Amino acid sequence: MKFGGTSVADAERLQRAARRIVAQRERGKRVVAVLSARGKTTDELIAMAQEVSPHPDPREMDMLLSTGERISCALCAMAINDLGHRAISLTGSQAGIVTDTSHTKARILDVRADRIREALDEDRIVLVAGFQGVSTSRDVTTLGRGGSDTTAVALAAAVQAEVCEIYTDVAGVFTADPRLVPDARKLSMVSFEEMLEMAASGAKVLQLRSVEYARTHGVRIHCRSSFEDAPGTVVLGEEETMEHPLITAITHSREEARITLLGVPDRPGAAAAIFGALAEANCNVDTIIQNEPLGDGRAAEVSFTVSYEDLPAAQQALSPVRESLAIADINTDREIGKVSIVGAGMRSHPGVAAKVFQTLADEEINIEMISTSPIKISCVIQADHVERAVRALHSAFELGDSDVRPERPMGEESR
Ligand code: ADP
Ligand code: ASP
Ligand code: MG
Repeated sequence: MKFGGTSVADAERLQRAARRIVAQRERGKRVVAVLSARGKTTDELIAMAQEVSPHPDPREMDMLLSTGERISCALCAMAINDLGHRAISLTGSQAGIVTDTSHTKARILDVRADRIREALDEDRIVLVAGFQGVSTSRDVTTLGRGGSDTTAVALAAAVQAEVCEIYTDVAGVFTADPRLVPDARKLSMVSFEEMLEMAASGAKVLQLRSVEYARTHGVRIHCRSSFEDAPGTVVLGEEETMEHPLITAITHSREEARITLLGVPDRPGAAAAIFGALAEANCNVDTIIQNEPLGDGRAAEVSFTVSYEDLPAAQQALSPVRESLAIADINTDREIGKVSIVGAGMRSHPGVAAKVFQTLADEEINIEMISTSPIKISCVIQADHVERAVRALHSAFELGDSDVRPERPMGEESR
């Protein structure tokens, strides 16, 4: 059972989470619970670091950030003990989560869950601090924003849990961010493939890595509300999903920046040098566009998007490449956003892209870059158009609650 930040934000919510955990135990289940930092704690810790240092040392940043989830776990253990059960809280390191050494975005390499198993055997409820581990060089690491989801999935795999329940502040995975689209519909199930595309394109309800990890290790994820009891969304293998709608969801992101390199020399190896440097700096690059050089000796222009978070690292990584390739100029646009449409059905259905472009055209929204996968179309647009674009696409593809029409009797379909 994993509880997100909003679900443990104050004493009353933390006690509610504790009661929910205890209720499962009383149904005869053995429970490992992963908690996030309370409310905005992680944001506050980041701001605190920036107050004392403009470019905080990544190792020390992880020492700082990992404290947020420890607070939640210790408090929740106290609350559970008061309910007459025995709980024990563990840091990521104590729980045996071993990661690589890339501070602030570490990857889990191994989970040595013996201590968790021992505690479960002693009939304890185990609380594990999310979002953190210990590196192969014995330093505390964190797993990137939203990383508690990945902690939960990794532990579920390690203890061979029946299910990994992700308790959050919405009722499950929706056809669009319900905060942006009030009419969005909760999906009762979604395939791994679609959920991966959704997480990668901005639906932060599940961290991308948690979905990857669950797919690789065969973990069943049930994403649901921490405030009500109703079932949420189950993430399943594609062969298990019963519905195959054309379009499953509209996702968006406003946390992107675009970098444009002007006057990149027209020769083999230039792109390899640019993107090699970005990879070295651990920057995730999204949509890439390189226009054709004009053949008259003039050089190419290369544009790509990175997450806002990675922008400083990307700029730093590009500066030596600029020198060595004699790139004329580097521009950065921070006002960039992205809207994406995801659905396994589009693989075999022509016309989806045309409809996306027409819908945005009708809204007079200019598309600046496009990228696709077999089940996703993403458009880079100006950030302040994102909200309007999401709503327009959601309604054009009839994804809302009000678009679900009652089934008609046989023979009346085609009118
Ligand atoms: P937690 O703190 O529980 O980890 P997050 O804030 O990380 O919660 O993720 C939940 C949020 O994800 C929701 O409040 C919602 O605004 C946002 N979200 C974005 N896209 C979607 C979507 N398609 N379905 C559900 N929630 C979404
Ligand atoms: N507290 C961390 C964050 O805010 C991790 C998480 O909530 O999953 O990103
Ligand atoms: Mg989250």
